[in-house]
Amino acid sequence: MSISNDIKNLLDIQDTNITFEENCVMNGTYKGNSCKYVDGKLTYIPTHCVRCGIKNENETITKNGTQMSRITLPITGVLPTYLRLNKQRFVCKACNKSFTAKTPIVKKNCFISENTIAQVVIKSAEAQPLLSIGRDCSVSPTTVQRVITEVAKAYKPHHQALPKHLSFDEFKYAKGQMAFEYINVATGDILDILEKRTSRAIKDHFITNYCLKDRKQVETVTIDMNAGYANVIKEMFPQAEIIIDRFHLVQLINRSMNKCRVRIMNTFNTSRGEDQKKYRRLKRYWKLLLKKESELSYTEYKNYDMFGQRLEVNIVDEMLDYDPELKANYTLYQELLSAMTNRDFSTLENILERRSSMLISNYMKTSLKTLRKHLPYIKNSFIYPYNNGRIEGINNKIKVLNRVAYGYRNFTNFKNRILLHFKFKPVQIRPVTETKQKETHTKVA
Ligand SMILES: [Zn+2]
Repeated sequence: MSISNDIKNLLDIQDTNITFEENCVMNGTYKGNSCKYVDGKLTYIPTHCVRCGIKNENETITKNGTQMSRITLPITGVLPTYLRLNKQRFVCKACNKSFTAKTPIVKKNCFISENTIAQVVIKSAEAQPLLSIGRDCSVSPTTVQRVITEVAKAYKPHHQALPKHLSFDEFKYAKGQMAFEYINVATGDILDILEKRTSRAIKDHFITNYCLKDRKQVETVTIDMNAGYANVIKEMFPQAEIIIDRFHLVQLINRSMNKCRVRIMNTFNTSRGEDQKKYRRLKRYWKLLLKKESELSYTEYKNYDMFGQRLEVNIVDEMLDYDPELKANYTLYQELLSAMTNRDFSTLENILERRSSMLISNYMKTSLKTLRKHLPYIKNSFIYPYNNGRIEGINNKIKVLNRVAYGYRNFTNFKNRILLHFKFKPVQIRPVTETKQKETHTKVA
């Protein structure tokens, strides 16, 4: 009896009706692969007949042979492990029907143990391909997906009420396919994921799932500037303020400044020694031109390639002297950057209102135009503490999932995997602050 208990302990089988005997473990093969078989027995005295319900008194129900089933268990050593369970068959004298003994270690008509299924669920929450989860749990990738689909049912978005502050974003999930997601910006909970991000699809979704009264409760929706969600938001959430994530504003002017530098670099005639030097320096020290002026070092002398012992600020000054256009754009860039990072809306507004100099590059002018167009939404980003940091953090994880899964082609399967992933590893609830934004948003380049 003690061997039986040891084996049950090892296999995490709690069903008292299952027993094991000495020499019950043996090596074998299953579908051509080496495996371990553990032979066990399942029997008990039934309290009643499962067919007609009669109570088992005076031997109404008698034992009637056994039935063997092979049940997949979690791997015990290095090989897949299967339980060959001899299940007792019973016959009922009252109804003349027979039935098989039951055990909670597997669901009815299933040959995969509940322990294995639990393992599949845990592993699915990690960023691992279905194939390797399957291999680790001795089941097929199809089974892994089936388990995910089944478990994800419990986490289906319920669309009961909308939070006051939403955040919208999108992500790529298959070749050229973009999905739309929206979250509760305060908690980071994914509220739902839609297969398409068209205005039509988004409107349909919100109209079908929420009444106007609910939608009117929404106070803010944070979006990134590139996405054309503004009209949909106005229509769906008539009371909501649109917030454009400030990070994207910085990113926008950052890119323009960088393009401007590259354009100027390319006007240099690199066959001339002096021009080649300037070209190389601008190419090498591009990051310094994007850095906030107030963060350049004014005190620390360092040895810089192509410059020698210098201060960071000297290097920037020298490079700006190469070209008046570069200097003009840099000055404007720094003004914008400082207004944005200091949440100084009136300065930003002033910069955007004034006529820009002839020297300002077209890249920068386009950015200014975009900023002017979105000015009311940008203002909101100076007022409210919300940003898209959280949803972008989620998106990064989704990208990892998509990559390890070698690109999900079936949207529903992918969505289920995402829901499971985030339910089992919930995003930590922290107040949205500036530092949070810095953490979440990766390098600006
Ligand atoms: Zn019966």
